[in-house]
Amino acid sequence: MTVRVRFAPSPTGFMHLGNARTALFNWLYARHMGGEFILRIEDTDRTRHTEAAVQVIYDSLKWMGLNWDGPVLRQSERLDIYHQVAEQLIAEGKAYRCNCTREELEAKKEAMKETTNHACYDGTCREKGLGPDCGEHVIRFKMPKEGESTFDDLIQGTITKSYKDLDDFIMVRSDGMPTYQFAVVVDDLALQITHVIRGADHIDNTHCQIALYRALGKEPPRFGHAPRIDGLSKRKGSPSVEYYREALGLLPEGLNNYIARLGWSHGDDEIFSTEELIKLFDIKDVNRSNGEFDEEKLKWVNEQQMRIVPIERIAEHTIPRYEKAGVKVVAGEWLFKLLEMMRKRAHNLNEIVTDSLFIWHAPEAYDPSSVSKHFNADTPALLRDLKAEIAKIDDWTEANIEAAFTKIATDRGLKMGKVAQPARTAIVGIAMSPGIYEVVWFVGKDEVCARLEKAAAFAENAH
Ligand code: GLU
Repeated sequence: MTVRVRFAPSPTGFMHLGNARTALFNWLYARHMGGEFILRIEDTDRTRHTEAAVQVIYDSLKWMGLNWDGPVLRQSERLDIYHQVAEQLIAEGKAYRCNCTREELEAKKEAMKETTNHACYDGTCREKGLGPDCGEHVIRFKMPKEGESTFDDLIQGTITKSYKDLDDFIMVRSDGMPTYQFAVVVDDLALQITHVIRGADHIDNTHCQIALYRALGKEPPRFGHAPRIDGLSKRKGSPSVEYYREALGLLPEGLNNYIARLGWSHGDDEIFSTEELIKLFDIKDVNRSNGEFDEEKLKWVNEQQMRIVPIERIAEHTIPRYEKAGVKVVAGEWLFKLLEMMRKRAHNLNEIVTDSLFIWHAPEAYDPSSVSKHFNADTPALLRDLKAEIAKIDDWTEANIEAAFTKIATDRGLKMGKVAQPARTAIVGIAMSPGIYEVVWFVGKDEVCARLEKAAAFAENAH
């Protein structure tokens, strides 16, 4: 049996982290099993869904690297099929038309609440055999009334619910649109889905859906309901993939690694490459207990991933960010060397870019505390001597740059820090940067000389 799983988001306009985890678990399971991962867009609520919102789903999944197999299924294109199945169920006596008005339903529910502690549809129209000409109506499913619904969840174990607590749920609304509950079963059957992996908030729906499979004479797929993620709603702002991509500048490997661990574990290991996740992930290893969202941990995992992914990945994700910052860079040896230098210290991709802009932009001002700490009366002479030494370098290598610094320090009987820190302040604007020889190398000979001269003049005026 080939495993076929699906991710079935509604286009809400952003990819909530809970949904992103559902997508990841499905994708990992499909790739682990050599199966297929299908994307279905649940877009039957036309008033709410826009194409831009659908695009957010594509973009988020692509960014996360969760490639789907085959064409995307759009529910809005399948309305005829839902109507056909609904008619078939009515003809077989397994569904019925209901023309109770909203007011009637409200009144019945209120009355029911007084005698029982739940409020299901009371079945007024269940045996009426209403035809299509019964006025404004919905189509309801005839839920069994006796006994219990039970299924064996791959994550949660055996789950049981009494049929009397389950509603004759609406399959088709009065405007002809299918409900989620109905369309999901029709589609999962059409797609030959073998495993439904989704959030625990769908556990109750599963009983309704299994009853529908049985009414259609089909065996339901296996279900696995991943635990809730606590702490997401407490966060300020939107806990979405887009937010973490843009505002926090995370690598997809960082986000994926972190959310995979929200509910799944493999011993005490924290850091997994995508290949390792595919190799190790199994749906039966997903925990039952809720995951607790921890943004600090997410950032930490991301930092670890930034250090270990192939440098090409860092390039791919920083090039557009450089472009936004007004700098054109291309993937290649020079950029890879720069990113190797930056990724050791940066916390995220945004920082790699902002902290390396000094290469293209000479400092407009010098950080006052760096100036007061590292500039003194000897600074103009020191920076000019350094400039002269650097100007002599023919072969622009870090080793030769280091030799120039060493000569200045030795000549003046200074520790290297006493040369490097004023030089940093002069070249970067602040006494904080990656290794000074690398910094000088990247900024380039002429530009470094110009910056040293400019800072020397500044220091002269300051002292
Ligand atoms: N559109 C539903 C959701 O986003 C899909 C649930 C399911 O996977 O069945 O929650």
